Amino acid sequence: MISYGRQAITAEDIDTVVAVLKSDFLTQGPQVPRFEQALCQQLHAAHAVAANSATSALHLACRALSLAPGDRFWTSPISFVASANCGLFCGASVDFVDIDPHTFNICPEKLEQKLTRAAHQNQLPKLIIPVHLGGLPCDMAAIASLARRYDIKIIEDASHALGGHYQDHPIGSGQHSDITVFSFHPVKIITTGEGGAALTQSADLAETMRLLRSHGVTREQQKMLGESDGDWYYQQIELGYNYRLTDIQAALGTQQLSRLRQYVSRRQQLARRYDEAFADLPLRLQRQTPTAQSAYHLYLLRVPAAERKAVFNELRAKKIGAHVHYIPIHTQPYFQKMGFAWGDFPAAEAFYREALSIPLHPQMSDNDQQTVIRALRSYCKQQSFNKVAVL
Ligand SMILES: *Cc1c(COP(=O)(O)O)cnc(C)c1O
Repeated sequence: MISYGRQAITAEDIDTVVAVLKSDFLTQGPQVPRFEQALCQQLHAAHAVAANSATSALHLACRALSLAPGDRFWTSPISFVASANCGLFCGASVDFVDIDPHTFNICPEKLEQKLTRAAHQNQLPKLIIPVHLGGLPCDMAAIASLARRYDIKIIEDASHALGGHYQDHPIGSGQHSDITVFSFHPVKIITTGEGGAALTQSADLAETMRLLRSHGVTREQQKMLGESDGDWYYQQIELGYNYRLTDIQAALGTQQLSRLRQYVSRRQQLARRYDEAFADLPLRLQRQTPTAQSAYHLYLLRVPAAERKAVFNELRAKKIGAHVHYIPIHTQPYFQKMGFAWGDFPAAEAFYREALSIPLHPQMSDNDQQTVIRALRSYCKQQSFNKVAVL
């Protein structure tokens, strides 16, 4: 099977992990701050808080921005469910902003219309979570200007976008948001097995996220109620979690991060080749935007809805790991129980019916890519395909 995404682990990665196993610290020792500093340096952020997943980091970000019961937050319906769950963990209520049919990201015009309505009804969200789908940065300038108008906070779900750029700044530098979250799950751009991080320019937000990452427990005298009882002493001052990353994982992360540029440029090269190979086919590719450079976590395309299942099955039969990203979050049974229904976000649903992801990862060989290209081209040349291909 040519897999749609796969981690790249080097002999040096393995040696690094083994060295940590032989050291004094297995969890949150010296390797975690080292990894956090490397993230800050590479992504031009002031603070990084590593966590045991992006889901945890998103939850920490929502908590640090004081999302609470009674509050609202909005995200994209075309994302992994964690983009919505993080705010639900805080007891807030979720709503979605429909996507742009070309970029597949949250649509700024629809966001503006929805904000105008919400302002009239006194139902504005406290925060918005734009998702950089497939690694393509959202129109952050437009989103941030709307957020400023209504005093709304922004968390970028950049799980797909490590190594991407927006207006010549790395995603993570926080030009247009309060906090940016990355995932280090094995299918993502770099991996720590499981892991994530929240980056911010704000020392206060970083400090809150650090406190909540480890039970809400502090050893700092200034934060304590009353006097410390001695060197053993700690106090729990908030309700926190155990969201710590291990030193084993952090050491792997630092190693992986040193190859970020290499990984992303290979992904971009493969993506350009797909773009050229499919230019004459009745497919819709993800439209890139002039101010953004995608990290290409995924190569996303739209095939006619009537053909999608057959194309998918045909690729799988040829041992090509096709996927569909994503089933619209609001159509999940759990969200339907909240009152969402099919029909609520038509652009997202139309995208879902046509969506197809094809293999793209830095270790994919040119030969494997040719196999994928040939398979998709030969399918599209069939008579039946062209008849329904009225995109
Ligand atoms: C993978 C992913 C997450 C969750 O990441 P984990 O590290 O697995 O918790 C969140 N949002 C998006 C968009 C993702 O793709």
